[in-house]
Amino acid sequence: MPEQLIGGCACGAVRYAAEGEPAERALCHCTHCQATSGAPALAWFTVPTDAFRYTAGAPRSYASTPEAVREFCGTCGTQLTFARHNYGGRRIDVTTASLDEPERAPPREHIWTRSRLSWMTALGDLPEQPTDNATAHDRSGSGARDGAD
Ligand SMILES: [Zn+2]
Ligand SMILES: [Zn+2]
Repeated sequence: MPEQLIGGCACGAVRYAAEGEPAERALCHCTHCQATSGAPALAWFTVPTDAFRYTAGAPRSYASTPEAVREFCGTCGTQLTFARHNYGGRRIDVTTASLDEPERAPPREHIWTRSRLSWMTALGDLPEQPTDNATAHDRSGSGARDGAD
């Protein structure tokens, strides 16, 4: 685990740095992660709030429930953080895939599996395309997260 985890949103307007080893790393299947991301699940890592800071830009926020706030880039929409009020300001959850190097903080557990989509458990059985196919979306557009894939 690196001493510093850095990342940001897709358009590059909002950047962050997190210090130290994450206390928790999880793939969350809750309905709020699904609804706010449009994705079937979100991977998160958790660090102390005082170990996390924005280094560029400022996120917008959304109360996904009365008990929690999610932050995201107001330009490109990338979801960046989650904090429950009962965290007491002591910890913050950060989206793993917004890291520059998401491979550095892989999930160690599934959480909220009671709302996991049924087809999420059979993903390994799907045919695979190394890049894309006729129906896949295009990741080759402009943006900070351009990559070979
Ligand atoms: Zn952005
Ligand atoms: Zn969730």
